[in-house]
Amino acid sequence: MKKEIKVLISACLTGDNVKYSGGNNLTPKLLELLKKYDVKIVKICPECFAKLPIPRVPSEIREDKVYSKDGKDITEEFFNGAEKTLQVAIKNNVDFAILKERSPSCGNTHIYDGSFSGKVIEGQGVTAKTLSKNEIKIFSEENLNEIEEYLKSLDSRMS
Ligand code: SF4
Repeated sequence: MKKEIKVLISACLTGDNVKYSGGNNLTPKLLELLKKYDVKIVKICPECFAKLPIPRVPSEIREDKVYSKDGKDITEEFFNGAEKTLQVAIKNNVDFAILKERSPSCGNTHIYDGSFSGKVIEGQGVTAKTLSKNEIKIFSEENLNEIEEYLKSLDSRMS
């Protein structure tokens, strides 16, 4: 029997209203692609796992710590959310992850620079870093072509 492909995905990308603003980052093309390959979705929101409220004050990473815009150090909460996310990934034996780019939790290649001025720099969010250290492959919602190539290779390996 063919093994099913499982992906860990930032819940906001699927339309769940878990963003700091109370909204979402629904990405219909991504969901269509996952449906085309019959991928099982495992939703996560590290900031929800850390029991941060919705809506919440936005946060950014500065010198390896996480601060909310009102100046609170919330690094511990972010590490807590990352650890819980890792446990979900392991428990579900996911094949890879798709995480929201630029988030201080989920950003995989770019994040905001910590000045709350909209400036983006190269870097990884706390959860993306934790999953990477545990050798979980990560894409962002901005890599649809790469995701499709990867799905094709997984599909042929699993059939
Ligand atoms: Fe989306 Fe990740 Fe932010 Fe949760 S922590 S709202 S999943 S980007």
